[in-house]
Amino acid sequence: MATGKINVSVENIFPLIKKFLYSDHEIFLRELISNATDATLKLKHLTDIGETDVKYGNPVIEVKVDKEGKKLHVIDQGVGMTKEEVEKYINEVAFSGAEEFLEKYKDSAKDSGIIGHFGLGFYSAFMVANKVEIITKSYKDEPAAHWVCEGTTEFTLGDSDKQERGTEIILHINEEDEEFLEENRIQELLVKYNKFMPIPIKFGTKEETLPLPEDAPEDAEAETKTVDNIINNPEPAWTKQPTDLEDKDYKSFYRELYPMQFEEPLFHIHLNVDYPFNLTGILYFPKMTQDMNIQKDKIQLYQNQVYVTDNVEGIVPEFLTMLRGVIDSPDIPLNVSRSYLQADGAVKKISSYITRKVADKLKSLFNNNREDFEQKWNDIKIVIEYGMLSEDKFYEKAQKFALYPTVENEYFTFEELQEKIKDNQTDKDGNLVVLYASNKDEQHSYIEAAKAKAYKVLLLDSPIISHLLQKMEGEKEKITFVRVDSDQVDNLIKKDEEKISKLSEEEKEKLKEDFEKVIPKEKYTVQLEAMDSDAAPLLITQPEFMRRMKEMQQTGGGG
Ligand code: ADP
Ligand code: MG
Repeated sequence: MATGKINVSVENIFPLIKKFLYSDHEIFLRELISNATDATLKLKHLTDIGETDVKYGNPVIEVKVDKEGKKLHVIDQGVGMTKEEVEKYINEVAFSGAEEFLEKYKDSAKDSGIIGHFGLGFYSAFMVANKVEIITKSYKDEPAAHWVCEGTTEFTLGDSDKQERGTEIILHINEEDEEFLEENRIQELLVKYNKFMPIPIKFGTKEETLPLPEDAPEDAEAETKTVDNIINNPEPAWTKQPTDLEDKDYKSFYRELYPMQFEEPLFHIHLNVDYPFNLTGILYFPKMTQDMNIQKDKIQLYQNQVYVTDNVEGIVPEFLTMLRGVIDSPDIPLNVSRSYLQADGAVKKISSYITRKVADKLKSLFNNNREDFEQKWNDIKIVIEYGMLSEDKFYEKAQKFALYPTVENEYFTFEELQEKIKDNQTDKDGNLVVLYASNKDEQHSYIEAAKAKAYKVLLLDSPIISHLLQKMEGEKEKITFVRVDSDQVDNLIKKDEEKISKLSEEEKEKLKEDFEKVIPKEKYTVQLEAMDSDAAPLLITQPEFMRRMKEMQQTGGGG
């Protein structure tokens, strides 16, 4: 038997990388800017720890489109590369200089925000360019280098007279990819992927309107000034400490994230963990409406401030995908398939961490300001009820704050509700009977009748509540949920059965007979128990099967 090593040659891999590594061609720009950012952060780190005395200054990354020359430039002022480093980092496909840097400066650099991982990002440039040049000058005092490659395994590496420290990457854009020579398209990509990256990114200039002085005449024209068009906010709210932020900062960050969203969020949750995984972020509860299922403003996923996707399926539990905000984690494996993601242990932990944080926040909102929580209930109940239905952990926690509103606008937790009804609403088997209505108008007379008997009637009108009730019935012993217009309501047992009626027994019987003379017995039942009601001196009800018959006729058959 022989053992050996499979020989992977770059010639074979290269076309594969170009074609299949990333399904989305547009991410090449994200990768190049990530590298430029890494190079700048590396320099920052080296100056911070005193390993070099070059001046860090206020470096920017610049992106330039040269439409005539069909070229795209990405220029940074970072560490740059010596000729040897180009050989090492660029010519060796799948060798990550970022990884190496983190390895070398393990302890000091773990929070440096370095993005690179796999040593493949740079080659994504060949998805849109037939020729790529690197002109680079290292912060070490060495001559600049010039590398040129036309998308094969051949390259040239020579000298350059570049004087400033840093790297310029030049892409000669393919004919079929000329969209990437359009300024609007590049602006769009920069905003999508790099809006919150840590080093300022300049793309051309823009006109800024200066504010008018207070004493300006009415017809004064506002002056404009040409300024650098800086794409990003290098210090987005989620990278800061919650103690350094006020409510208004969270709100303005929300608008930054969703410029087209005019509704204010109801509240936010700042996420911040570093063990056993790294994760930061801010989640917002938006106002929920029943027709919100078509939704475009979603939670955005970042890795070290680089936008990755707004498909958070598998990372955030499904019931929380209705929230908005950002999640940033260097620990989420980003370039792998969804099915892998779902099986990944770290990702599962992240999902349950988020569930827990959301539950904790809801509980503290409930505890700290119940009135406010009750007011928000209708806007958040869909998420909470859906969560209770789909996640057992959340179900348990939500017992403490999930509310059950009554038709009279009282809000009870389930525990409080049980306390309220325990003496008045049981059935013959001793089960607690929870009455509920789903439509105040349609079920008006039944609601009134129940109120007359001092029953509490819940108003439950969300689309998933009936499923939740079923679950609760299964889980809680001796509880049954009954529609307010169901026959069962007539059989409830009051603990103290004594009732004082304004009429004598004889008078009641007489009254009942009189009514039964004029209405058809088989269709209605006359009840006198409701005599103390203000709303109805006596009650004429339809047996439940008659009501159902009517409903079926109205909805066109019971199929
Ligand atoms: P990764 O970023 O995952 O390490 P890349 O393929 O994106 O892999 O880049 C490979 C290496 O090339 C980087 O790790 C870095 O050492 C070097 N490099 C790429 N771009 C630059 C740049 N703009 N400045 C300095 N070094 C760079
Ligand atoms: Mg990279």
